[in-house]
Amino acid sequence: MAYITRANSNAIRRKIDMVKIGNIPTDDIYHKDLSFLSENERRWLAAAKMLYEDFDFFIEYAYSENKAIDTKTMVREGNPPAFHSDRACENLRADYKNFYIPPEIHGRGDIEISRFRVWFSENEDLLTSNPERFITRMELVFKLENPPTLKSIEALNSGTVIEEDFNLQTIENQIDNLIEDSNKLRMDKIKSRIITQFGNKSFNKQNNIEIDKIIEEWHALKSQLKTKLLQYFMVKFNPNLDYNGYLLERLGFRECSACKKYITQEKIHNYIQNVTSNEIPF
Ligand SMILES: [Zn+2]
Repeated sequence: MAYITRANSNAIRRKIDMVKIGNIPTDDIYHKDLSFLSENERRWLAAAKMLYEDFDFFIEYAYSENKAIDTKTMVREGNPPAFHSDRACENLRADYKNFYIPPEIHGRGDIEISRFRVWFSENEDLLTSNPERFITRMELVFKLENPPTLKSIEALNSGTVIEEDFNLQTIENQIDNLIEDSNKLRMDKIKSRIITQFGNKSFNKQNNIEIDKIIEEWHALKSQLKTKLLQYFMVKFNPNLDYNGYLLERLGFRECSACKKYITQEKIHNYIQNVTSNEIPF
């Protein structure tokens, strides 16, 4: 058993290879008709479903090996992601916090970004104990003209723990309502024609307020539906984001060092408990 954070699960999902999934079956994504989505959208959803339902299949037929790009916007980026063997591991549950690199530092280029990342990890204890001093120190060390607020650099925490209202039935109802809304929208002849013409292309303004409004509404609806479907697949097939560690290693994950230590201690403890006096060779 190997657990990963939701952020890492999303990162794997972003590496779906659209060419590789060219022939993926799309008729079994959900128990209701989704043919109003484009072929590409349905293929992408079918592949995303596999990430939760059949990880082996996902790696074989959907995953792109391309290396993740370091966007240089986050403090923790570009390092190999970790998996955890202990579901209670603190690194997994609560602390996976990431931070935005202040734009002023980002604007100074790669060397300053690397220096900032090193400084950040060396001073992280201060961030926990005294966030205000942490920011002041950052301001001094990097001679910032516009020091950030703590809030502006904090990224969302992304532990694996699923929110309370992530109930499968609730999500299913929300999906069904969105499908119903999309059907209603297309019942109007004019709207249906506009959606057929523009609705499956990426969003480009047509310089016509009425048309743009309809396309915008359609895209917003599809986007909500896709988000809900992803939640649905996760809650239905793998709510704990529990994966095969060996396969994760193939994707470049490494075992969390805290978990490794814990497991080793536990193993030693169990071994000592199980050794009978006859087995002790001295
Ligand atoms: Zn861990």
